[in-house]
Amino acid sequence: MQGFFQLISTAEFLGLLDRFPPLATERVPLARGLGRILADEVTSPEALPPFARATMDGFAVRARDTFGCSDSEPALLTIAGEIAMGRAGSELALLPGQAATIWTGGALPSQADSVVMVEYSHRLDERTVEIQRPVAPGDNVIREGEDYAHDAVVLRRGHQLRPQDLGVLAGIGITSVAVHRRPRVAIISTGDELIPPERQPAPGQIRDINSTTLAALVEECGGEAVALGITSDSPEELSEACRKALALPADAVLLSGGSSVGRRDFTLEVFARLEHTEVLAHGVSIRPGKPTILARRDNIAFFGLPGHVGSAIVVFHLLVRPLLRRLAGAADDGLRRIRAVTSEQIPSVVGREDYVRVALHQEDAPRRVTATPVYGKSGLLNPLVRADGLLIIKRDTEGLDEGEEAEVLLFPGHHPAGLATY
Ligand code: AMP
Ligand code: MG
Repeated sequence: MQGFFQLISTAEFLGLLDRFPPLATERVPLARGLGRILADEVTSPEALPPFARATMDGFAVRARDTFGCSDSEPALLTIAGEIAMGRAGSELALLPGQAATIWTGGALPSQADSVVMVEYSHRLDERTVEIQRPVAPGDNVIREGEDYAHDAVVLRRGHQLRPQDLGVLAGIGITSVAVHRRPRVAIISTGDELIPPERQPAPGQIRDINSTTLAALVEECGGEAVALGITSDSPEELSEACRKALALPADAVLLSGGSSVGRRDFTLEVFARLEHTEVLAHGVSIRPGKPTILARRDNIAFFGLPGHVGSAIVVFHLLVRPLLRRLAGAADDGLRRIRAVTSEQIPSVVGREDYVRVALHQEDAPRRVTATPVYGKSGLLNPLVRADGLLIIKRDTEGLDEGEEAEVLLFPGHHPAGLATY
């Protein structure tokens, strides 16, 4: 039996990912831009807003015409007209002592510098209004270019586009964006015992869980998943599945099961024998997830992941997600981290990093988040459903005492019950 190649740390493993360059860029319309990652900085091609706008309903005025006025001594202004919505401010010339009716978002007449809220005005007749509070120049007005000046940086390269970002781009007249291509990820499950979920297992068989889980993890971090199904524990079938992945073509391949060093574990051998492929890592000093393999053919990454779904999920978050984010041009791995205190002692060993599944609870007094391990025998599924994230026990510690603080990686897209403040 062959041993592990050489156990490396997560930091060393992540360093290997630098060899895979970000994917090519493409231009997509805004409607397809949500969640995509900007390949270029975006600057504003024009000033926004393009003209000074009122932020309140009321009267556009010259501020100095209102100086010193009050409830008891209102300023008396002549109403020169109304700025209708969508009409240019230059359509109405405002002379000293005049005001113009204006609505929120309306264009200020060029001679006006402020807006008096309708609440502080009293209309005497069609032509005359009393102003009861003074305004300063700029009050209740957004200046031309106050949001974005012409050429101002609006969004940085590497930024993941959110709905509000897309709206701002529309607002400055940008209707398509340069983004990185989404990584296409082929998913293969291996095991003689596996059958597709829709089939009824015969004695000794179990349903394939990893294809579904890994595909969802890939989609969750912005990739395109292509599940290639189940292969038996045969080097020939596995090689065939890897070639199918190359033909897609895939940017990354996730092969779960058979990554360890048992007699029926062929992933390493298959990767090593694939043409023009270099094995970069076999074995990472983490628990769970030690039997993890990384190989590279051109710019395509081949991951061998442990078969147990709990371990495969941990390895995905720690080691696969950073690659997919990197391929997509993102600046980070997209995982949120919080600090929590342990509700009980958690043992570990020096020289290995542990990722403990924990449920999180917000305590009111003292205000803090506690992390409770959701233990279960290796192979049980229900702890996965109960967990909110992964608590990290660093490589150089023997474990954590009850009440000790540690960092927790939050599973994305999930807000633990009672953690309203995060
Ligand atoms: P392996 O890494 O192949 O030694 O598998 C470890 C454990 O995970 C075994 O109990 C397998 O039956 C199980 N396993 C492997 N692949 C899958 C899968 N795709 N779905 C569900 N369980 C799996
Ligand atoms: Mg197996």
